Amino acid sequence: MNLDRTVCALATPPGTGGIAVVRVSGPQAYEMVAKVFTPRAAGKTVAGARGYTAMLGHFSLRGQELDETIALFFRAPHSYTGEDVIELSVHGGSVMAESLLEALCLAGCAPAGPGEFTRRAVVNGRMSLTQAEAVMEIIAAGGRQGAALAKTALDGALARTIREIQTGLQSLSAHLTAWIDYPEEDVPELQPAELTAALTEARTRLDRLIDGYGAGAVLRRGVDCVLLGRPNVGKSTLLNLLAGFDRAIVTPVAGTTRDVVEQAVQLGEIRLNLFDTAGVREVGEDGDAIEAEGIRRSWRKLEEAGLVLAVFEAGTPLTEEDRAIAARCQGRPALAVLNKQDLQPDPAALAAQEAALRPCFARVLPLTARDPASLPVLSAAVAELLGTARVDTGAAALCSARQLAAATAARVALAAAIDSQAQGLGPDAAGVCLADAQRALAELTGEDATEATLDEVFSTFCVGK
Ligand code: GDP
Repeated sequence: MNLDRTVCALATPPGTGGIAVVRVSGPQAYEMVAKVFTPRAAGKTVAGARGYTAMLGHFSLRGQELDETIALFFRAPHSYTGEDVIELSVHGGSVMAESLLEALCLAGCAPAGPGEFTRRAVVNGRMSLTQAEAVMEIIAAGGRQGAALAKTALDGALARTIREIQTGLQSLSAHLTAWIDYPEEDVPELQPAELTAALTEARTRLDRLIDGYGAGAVLRRGVDCVLLGRPNVGKSTLLNLLAGFDRAIVTPVAGTTRDVVEQAVQLGEIRLNLFDTAGVREVGEDGDAIEAEGIRRSWRKLEEAGLVLAVFEAGTPLTEEDRAIAARCQGRPALAVLNKQDLQPDPAALAAQEAALRPCFARVLPLTARDPASLPVLSAAVAELLGTARVDTGAAALCSARQLAAATAARVALAAAIDSQAQGLGPDAAGVCLADAQRALAELTGEDATEATLDEVFSTFCVGK
């Protein structure tokens, strides 16, 4: 990334809307915007604009006045990127914004790459890499809890927690080094018990972060959810309940839902990326080929999904197909929905069904998919199953797979250090492992991040952020 360039990009989503905002950042931002933007008030100039002020005017393309424009000025280093920044608001839709971008490029601006504004903020020391990742998570969050979690990371909670762990490890490491390298000095020996206790505390803190990752990721990004059941148990009805309208065709004829349909719906705080499935059933020699393909896809999805909702008909003895579905749900994050409770199934039959399903599922939930009052019940059961009900959105959390990998590497190194002490291997062995843990943590916070790491992080960003 070349910081000498001045870059511009659309900061608002493309498409129809009230206003569109184009952001310009870099050393020549004021000079270039001055060629494009004309203030309305006589005597006002772009060059003379102070930071944190706004100015009304218009922009022109190839000498032709195009649209009323409001310019918002920021002066380095007091801006998002830490550079001179100007945000130009024009009328929404894409025509004016595209014309403005063209005018800016003609004035010498370069189009910004994905995440370039945030990357500049990191390079200019305005935020840490973990905070930059949090920015992306706020944008992508599916619910308020997920956004709150990302906001906590943006406020620096994760960076602070990692810094505390690093400080602890640094002082251990300094002590070990002094003791090993300067035996003639009177450095007091670090007692093995003391060393193990300090290492264990750091490992426990990493454990907490690593354990919370799954539920946090569900809150921020949603979960892939597969809906399974033999024909006519009420899958489409459940899908409609979740989606809030009649999206899937509900019919009393078996097997109308042929394909795996993807749709995102919000269930409480969790976004479900839904895969409606073909009615799962055994297909014989002369079976319908399309249906068979649908079933194969359903099974594959079941293996990958973060949440499985398997639907059964309450009061009807479990069929072979029901049992085959239940067996595949074993060990998966799966919820059995015993549907059609409004038909008041025989209690003895219901109890037998529940007993048969329980060993295969995390939870068996009696439900009436037809009844909207079932929604909060399902929502609470899913939040409980995925652990999101217990997430403290104010606590530090890892918010990317990259961070998780680095934290896990640090944890493995600390576990090895603890192990070396248990085996009586002496301080040198612990010192080597400790150095590995420190390297992994530095990678996590981004202080040692390579260009390749930065490229990887920012490649997932949208242009304009
Ligand atoms: P799918 O084949 O599994 O998608 O099942 P559908 O959603 O198409 O439902 C099959 C039939 O069961 C339809 O006639 C639905 O109206 C009915 N049904 C679904 N859910 C319920 C429920 O909670 N109570 C009752 N009484 N009928 C239901």
